[in-house]
Parts: sequence; C-alpha cells; structure tokens
Amino acid sequence: MLAQRISLLSGSGTAAAREAAKLAATDGRRIIDLSAGEVIIHPPLSVREGAIAAINAGTNRYTDSIGLPPLRKAVAEKLSAETGIDWNTDDIVITAGAKQGLVDAALAVLDPGDEVIIIRPCWPTFPSQVLLAGAKPVFVDARPPAYIPDIGAIRAAVTPRTKAIIINSPNNPTGAVYDRTTLQDIGDLAIKYQLWIVSDECYSSFVFTGSRHESIVMAHPGVRSRTILVNAFSKELAITGWRLGYFAAPPEIISAAKKLQSHTTSNANVIAQYAILHHLQVSDGSFEREMHQRLAQARNAGLLILSGLHDLATPGAKGSFFFYLDLSRLVSALPARGPIRSTDDIARVLLEETDVASVSGSTFGDVNGLRLSFGAPPDLLESGLRRVVDTLNSLKTKYAAA
Ligand code: PLP
Repeated sequence: MLAQRISLLSGSGTAAAREAAKLAATDGRRIIDLSAGEVIIHPPLSVREGAIAAINAGTNRYTDSIGLPPLRKAVAEKLSAETGIDWNTDDIVITAGAKQGLVDAALAVLDPGDEVIIIRPCWPTFPSQVLLAGAKPVFVDARPPAYIPDIGAIRAAVTPRTKAIIINSPNNPTGAVYDRTTLQDIGDLAIKYQLWIVSDECYSSFVFTGSRHESIVMAHPGVRSRTILVNAFSKELAITGWRLGYFAAPPEIISAAKKLQSHTTSNANVIAQYAILHHLQVSDGSFEREMHQRLAQARNAGLLILSGLHDLATPGAKGSFFFYLDLSRLVSALPARGPIRSTDDIARVLLEETDVASVSGSTFGDVNGLRLSFGAPPDLLESGLRRVVDTLNSLKTKYAAA
C-alpha cells in the first residue's frame, strides 16, 4: 500500500499532452508539438564545451550539497547584474533545476496545516509540492485578459494559517508579466501578514514588452528577507535536460536547503555545474540575445496569425513563451450535450483532426484556457497556429446546436 501523499498528486498534464503527441506520432502522423514548455534549439556551444572539458578532465565526486562555490559566486554576480541588487555566494543555492529550488522552499517553510496562496491558472507543480509538504494550496484566480491577480482577492484569501504566497512572473501558462504596482502590493501584503514569498522567475529572460524583467525584490526591496527567488538555466539556455537551477534566499533558507539537499539528492550534477560555470565565464550573451530575438519574432508572427481568430481575444503573451487563449466564449457557445464541451475536448480535436498538440487550461486549474508554446521551431509554429485558428473558427458552425 502506498503512502497517502501519493494520492494527493495528479499526473502532470503537460507530460500527458507530450505523451499524447508522441503516441499520435507513432501512427506515422507528423505532429506539430505546441505543447512543450521548452524552446526547441541546440544548447549553447559554451555549455557543451564546458561539459566536455569537465568530462575530459576526469571531473567527478560530490560537490557541496548547495553547489560549487565558484558557480554560486558566478550566479550571484549574474543575479546582481540583472537585478541591480548585491548578491553574494552565501545567498545562492545551486539546484537540480527550478523544481528542486521550489521543493526546497516548500519543505523549508511549510508545516502541515499551513496555507499557501497560489495564483491560478498555475503551473501544476506549485500545488503538488505544497501538498507534498503537508500544507494546503489556496487558489486566487487571475482573470483574463491580463491574468494579473487582484490584490483585494489575494488579501481576502489570507487567513491566520497563511504561511506563503507563490508568484510566477513572467507566467506559465498565461504569459502575464506582473506590473510594478502589483509586485509592490503583493510585497506590502507579505510584510503585513508575515508571509514568505516564493518567486518563480524561470522565464525572466523572456519579456517582450520592451521593458526588462522586474523581480519582486527589485520592485519592493523590503521583501528580500522573506523572498525565495527561484530561477534556472533550463529555459534561459534551452537546457531543460541538464537540470541546473538556483535560488537566492535569506540565510536560514540557505542552511535549510543545505540539509535538505544533502539528504535528498546531494549536489546537482557536477558536469552540468562545470558546464554552466564555463558558460557564465566565457559567454558574451549572444546565445541569450539570439534566443530572445527568435522568440520575439515567433511571438509577432504568431500573434498575427492568432488575430484571425473569430470572437476570441488575441493573447497578451507579454512574457514566457506561451500564447494562452481564453476559450470561455467558444466553449459556452458549443452545445452542452455535444461531443465538444470543454477545452480538454478542444485540445483532443486539435490533436486528432489537425495533428497539433496543445495543453488544455484544465492542466493549470482553468477550464477556459488553451496553451500553445511558441518555443516550437518557427516554420512548424506558423503552420500549427494556422491549423489552430482554422479549427477553432470552424468549431462553432461544425458543432452548433441543431
Ligand atoms: N517553474 C515554472 C513556472 C515552469 O514552467 C517550469 C517548467 O516548465 C519549471 C519551474 C521547472 O523548471 P526546471 O526544469 O528548471 O526544473
């Protein structure tokens, strides 16, 4: 018999979408995969060279559980340059991807019975990790078209048991980028109610509104002592498989992570640590700039295609690399007893009839959304989006009530 905590976890919806796409491809169909949470591009040469050099040098052995000191220092310097705030080696923990940073945070601050405010639609790992820590996710809905949470709604969700709030800007899945006032209001609220802030900034390199990413610690420096700022190289360098992330946090969280990681995974993979260290030492930022440029172009081309959607708003897609469609009007126009009644059905039709993989909003706790990644190769993205537009535009007539 399994532990009860396993029953708290649902399977990953994004992984399920990926599996469905793979399964369809085994029938010989050429699936355009717009479901992936990663940019399809080769890793930077500097990362690959760093790894090869480390392997050829015979690099092996455990490192400090929270990472190689020179890598922690290099990450602190990177974060200082990006945020304009001073960070030191001691402020940084190296993790096996952002996911480990987030689970460290959950295990370090949550006790059974604690509540954690999570802005929905949300990446499903947030509530799952909160549940694993024995705590309770409390959802606050961020509504379309902007998907920026209302501070009054967040305040209304605070109870004496609230211990933390998780924010994620730029956001997966909605593409929202929180404005400075929202970040400051969340910061004020966290101070007033003495909450931890877990700020997942994994998509910080991907802001397309002309301005740069603003971390909550930049918008509200007063929250630094209660913020766990989680980030990773996974998305920024398109190296999701290498499993290298980090977080910056106050000293008590760093000590907690040191213990947690030493008893769970030990250190992040040593070759990956050296590879990223090499990248940070030699890179002139051209890979990152090219990625940004490619995604900005993909976003523009995609928005143009999506503007052809009838009766549906074009998504904001201000950050991350997702178009998030609000299909509420389309779903409510479809017959309640018909074959297509939900965004799950729509994602299924897109895969079965047009060979395009997407992720239904239900994965993110939102019955009205549909996520399409613009990290796909540009030519595939454009033909995939055209098929999505044609299919969505035809659904109402095809399945209209007789
Ligand atoms: N945080 C968010 C919001 C994500 O969307 C993802 C991956 O999709 C992660 C964290 C996981 O990042 P990593 O692969 O670095 O663990």
